[in-house]
Amino acid sequence: MYDCIVTGGGISGISFAHCLHKAGKQVLLLEKDDRIGGQIHTKTLANTDFWYETGAHTCYNSYVSLLSIVDALGESGNIRQLNRRYTYKLHTPKGLKNIASGLYIPGMLLHAPRALIVGKKGKTVREYYRCILGSRNYDHLFSKAFRAILSQPADDYPAEMLMKKRDSHHENHPRSFSFAGGLSAMVNTIAAKAGFPVTASATVKNISHNNGLYEVTAASGETWQATSIALATDPSSAAALLHELEPELAALLADIPMFHSESFSVVVPAKWLTAERMAGIIPLSDDFFSAVSRDLTEHPDLRCFTFHFAQGAKTDSEKWEIACRTLNIQPSDVTGHSLTTHILPSLRIRHLNMTAQVANQKKSDSIYLLGNYFKGLSLEDCVQRSMEEAERFC
Ligand SMILES: Cc1cc2nc3c(=O)[nH]c(=O)nc-3n(C[C@H](O)[C@H](O)[C@H](O)COP(=O)(O)OP(=O)(O)OC[C@H]3O[C@@H](n4cnc5c(N)ncnc54)[C@H](O)[C@@H]3O)c2cc1C
Repeated sequence: MYDCIVTGGGISGISFAHCLHKAGKQVLLLEKDDRIGGQIHTKTLANTDFWYETGAHTCYNSYVSLLSIVDALGESGNIRQLNRRYTYKLHTPKGLKNIASGLYIPGMLLHAPRALIVGKKGKTVREYYRCILGSRNYDHLFSKAFRAILSQPADDYPAEMLMKKRDSHHENHPRSFSFAGGLSAMVNTIAAKAGFPVTASATVKNISHNNGLYEVTAASGETWQATSIALATDPSSAAALLHELEPELAALLADIPMFHSESFSVVVPAKWLTAERMAGIIPLSDDFFSAVSRDLTEHPDLRCFTFHFAQGAKTDSEKWEIACRTLNIQPSDVTGHSLTTHILPSLRIRHLNMTAQVANQKKSDSIYLLGNYFKGLSLEDCVQRSMEEAERFC
């Protein structure tokens, strides 16, 4: 019998379980995949120590909640600074160019002063940034750049949730960083060092509540009992699990659209890649959303680019063609590749105050909802929500 069963082993579930375990609570974490991490998914090239990110890739020293966990577990020494010399490049019909080459300067100069008087509140990304950057700059360049930041189309996303200013920074840590072995190594280390039990390959299928106890049932038929439950899944999975326990809350969560993407990574020996080292690529076309490079944690012999696509938008052979054409390489130059899938909420203006909306709709105090649909998509937003809910629990 547990004090809390956490469903979902991404950063939200792991950070919440860590906080409860630290407070002396009996906590169990259940994850449907055979690995923890969720949208953090580092892969390693077979028979080498060369790792690359297929999902989340960058943390910042403004991620103070995440850093407080890493520091408390004595893992600061494994933080790896990202090379800030390298920048994103623009993929144009004429090849890779500097981002500034895509700017329409007169439009910038004309519209930029509006930033002083126009607020983001209640506006979509498209409404706000078209206003302060000009429609030509937004449509041609920034809509593509913001799509790369959000890993999904950005037009209808709330402007307030894009590029949020954070109050504090951890000056002792590098401005942008990863972890030795990649971000999956970070979440694996947090879970292992924190020491709470994790059951992987356990898809939660049903949660019932009788006589003050929750019974959590996995697809395998195995069951566990607890006095509280936390759902740290994507909102659509949480809605399905709450369908009978809290129908109104389930309906609120089911209203959040989900965006499914595919990430195609190619590992190439550095000697075959003529393109200079860079942070990643933003295309002017709709061929792909962005390509994230592994160059920021430089490797002398190997380079990797992960191309992000909307799920089902391209066939496998089209993905190969786009990656090879963009990087100016042949398929035979590729020494390793992988395809992973990702899922993110597509938040809209009506989801701006999900914290209050969930609190108003939720009937039971012993259900905790965590994830990237409260404060924002970033890892820090997830950890902050988890820490606040852990505080409520304790
Ligand atoms: C391509 C991409 C790049 C990104 N880059 C960055 C970045 O550089 N920096 C940054 O800060 N953020 C980045 N993000 C955002 C960030 O990675 C995510 O918002 C965050 O990892 C979400 O964490 P989470 O724990 O809330 O959800 P998830 O990571 O989605 O975890 C939810 C977990 O629940 C599990 N689950 C679902 N249903 C069940 C069930 N029924 N039973 C058991 N388990 C279940 C899933 O398998 C999953 O492991 C990126 C996201 C993507 C997709």
